[in-house]
Amino acid sequence: MTTTPPPPAREPLDLLGFSLLDRASGVLLAQAAGDALGVPYEFAQPPGPGQQDAVAVMRGGGLGPYAPGEWSDDTQMSVCVARVTAAHDVLSPVPDAFGATPLDEVAAAFEAWRTGGATDVGTQTAAVLRDAAARRGPAATRLREASAALHAATGRTAGNGALMRTGVIGLVALDDRDATARAARAVAALTHTDPLAAESCVLWSEAVRVAVTEQRLDVRAGLDLLDPDAAARWSAWIEDAELARPTADLRQNGFTVTALQAAWHAIATTSAPERSRFAGRDHLVAALQAAVATGGDTDTVAAIAGALLGARYGARALPDEWSVAVHGWPGIGRRVLTALARRTAQRGLVGSGALVLPDGDARPTQRCPVCGTLLRENPRYPQHVCGWCAADVTDEAGRAVVLSNASLTGGFTAHRPDGSPASPDVLAGRVWVAGVEHRAREARFGGIVVQPLDHA
Ligand SMILES: [Mg+2]
Repeated sequence: MTTTPPPPAREPLDLLGFSLLDRASGVLLAQAAGDALGVPYEFAQPPGPGQQDAVAVMRGGGLGPYAPGEWSDDTQMSVCVARVTAAHDVLSPVPDAFGATPLDEVAAAFEAWRTGGATDVGTQTAAVLRDAAARRGPAATRLREASAALHAATGRTAGNGALMRTGVIGLVALDDRDATARAARAVAALTHTDPLAAESCVLWSEAVRVAVTEQRLDVRAGLDLLDPDAAARWSAWIEDAELARPTADLRQNGFTVTALQAAWHAIATTSAPERSRFAGRDHLVAALQAAVATGGDTDTVAAIAGALLGARYGARALPDEWSVAVHGWPGIGRRVLTALARRTAQRGLVGSGALVLPDGDARPTQRCPVCGTLLRENPRYPQHVCGWCAADVTDEAGRAVVLSNASLTGGFTAHRPDGSPASPDVLAGRVWVAGVEHRAREARFGGIVVQPLDHA
């Protein structure tokens, strides 16, 4: 068995820098893209040569039925988690004014989602949430008890439903692998008592944390966070998953072990073409296609793979047509989804309201006025919208537009994603973010700046 020693001391994490925050954004965005890409093929004929679709297409349908680009329960449950982790330490034992800890809030969010938004719910999660509703006590306790009762009755609670939502846990404590592992176990245990579910979540969450902070893909990075016997078993399962033809039947991926193997197999056995100009994008696309082509629970395997691929390559690695299309419960798209990821990452490193970085430096900052992401101070544009919200601007009719510098004439230009010209309003600098009118113009030192009307 090989264990990976903890990484040596590193440069402080640049939690105000574009690239780290883009990789954090990529965790939820690429997960959502994998989810939406796999939805049409869930427990149906996967895409492949000679099939209706040679490669996966975000055509919707599936078990929902879903609209094209719509994500399913995997990302819906991740949003339940991320709404809490964006604002709170999920491990904090301190209750709010109503007596609920952050973990209770996650549990209560799962319950509210089941009755108020779920388009489909996995068998095991559904059974636990139904039983928990009949119990008394704090939400997290009720869910854990219901999950333990199911495990006692069936001995089979290692479904993939905890692993599918664990990506965002890799962002809760970017500088603390032990806290990351504790959070992974705590959130898994709400619905999945079997130790295999928790172990799969520890491994995947730590892999996400390492991908965001160290820009490498390493599913073994968290093996030493498991007990030695468990680590030996997982080490063998991972080795098997890296074979061109694993001995495990990867289509049986409702089981959390096989789901992790299938997701890792898709990542480890694909790569960008040699000399690719967009190696990150090409690997991400090839791996997500491979994940869906596995068959079985296609959206879940691709969602799991997507969380790790997005952590490594960032939100900007996604093809535009995917990142524009993805959307889902609770009525959000990439702008709000990725803001939850960025705020989760920053919350773990910056105390709420405090501006002191892990290196002890107090660095001047400002916040994106739309999504609240913490940014480097920019005295010239103190209210500028962050790059991720600026990438989501629309015209007056709510249609996506892409802003860029005019290469020859200087200044500012805009077009629709299909290349057609933007509306006269947009070309005059009138753009909308989250439905609110803003002003866009060429920034003084290049690039485009988008600002609220009263600061433009
Ligand atoms: Mg699903």
